[in-house]
Amino acid sequence: MAEIQLRNVNKRWGSFIGVDNFNLTIADKEFLVLLGPSGCGKTTTMRMIAGLEDVTDGEIVIDGKVVNNLDPKDRDVAMVFQSYALYPNMNVYENIRFPLKVRGVDPATHDERVRRASAMVELDDFLHRKPAELSGGQRQRVALARAIVREPNVFLMDEPLSNLDAKLRVSTRAQIKNLSHELAVTTIYVTHDQIEAMTLADRVVVMEKGVVQQVGSPTEIYDRPANLFVASFIGNPAMNLIDGDLCDGVFETRNTRITGLNTGHGKTTLGFRAEDASLARDGEGQISAPIYTLELLGDATMISVRIGTSLVAVKADKSFRAEIGDLVSIHVTPEICHLFSTETGQRID
Ligand code: ATP
Repeated sequence: MAEIQLRNVNKRWGSFIGVDNFNLTIADKEFLVLLGPSGCGKTTTMRMIAGLEDVTDGEIVIDGKVVNNLDPKDRDVAMVFQSYALYPNMNVYENIRFPLKVRGVDPATHDERVRRASAMVELDDFLHRKPAELSGGQRQRVALARAIVREPNVFLMDEPLSNLDAKLRVSTRAQIKNLSHELAVTTIYVTHDQIEAMTLADRVVVMEKGVVQQVGSPTEIYDRPANLFVASFIGNPAMNLIDGDLCDGVFETRNTRITGLNTGHGKTTLGFRAEDASLARDGEGQISAPIYTLELLGDATMISVRIGTSLVAVKADKSFRAEIGDLVSIHVTPEICHLFSTETGQRID
């Protein structure tokens, strides 16, 4: 059982704020992902939970106990890093057993525990190899097994997939998801990759510049981004965002007129996702503009037009044929629109 609480947690170096007033309760067995661009404070947050970084202000509570002054080794958390940090002169078996040795776990149990952990990550056939004789994906699995073998209360994973190629990343991601289901241990996972976050998390914390922007399930974050930062960070392609004016339920800007919106007034940024919109027949859509670019995706064709400084994308059928410069019209209903204050960036609908 491990519930983790962050109570008004701050990290400052001099006047620089690395993490700004982080408040969250992470439930027992929850898979929580900290997501954000480089430098947003996610690693620092994780390192404070691990005890590798001091907390400037606030409290970190694990299972009802304030752990601010507890050494990393006394927190019962296991970390997996992006650099696997394996011992090159030890074979896989010895690498996985190492944490049991240093913790003084009863040697009679080592063999069974190492074999169980290595089986979970499908390394049974590689136990006698040295790290240099393994692929990147296999090395990362050794690092995972070394965390699993400890049977900790909490897993902390810092970008564990980032050194793997695209294909391995997908298969190792699936393996981590399956493992976390099997082990049912509270896990905090750091990444800048929104697909990893969406596929792995029970809840995602989106951070920027040390500040939590939104906390929610992947669906909540995708369907109702709290502000322009989250809207533009989550989703591939990113949400279409158009600056304009909203008055009496009508949003207008160049080439664009959308009626039937029910909130807001003044300078507004309107968003919608490419897959929610569709191409309309000649001039019947709410956005009409010349095609800026066409991209074949295999299962669809992505059409983009320029509205002011924004590129606005819509998914069309893969059989759609047109040329750059041809006029297209895009159908945008009020139901698919997200409205944000252009000034504050906050969601207004
Ligand atoms: P990345 O994905 O690049 O690892 P991150 O979101 O994990 O980024 P952090 O490593 O948490 O970011 O760093 C947050 C901010 O704190 C960054 O701007 C970083 O430069 C700054 N920072 C980190 N460690 C220190 C330090 N020891 N002294 C001063 N500033 C630091």
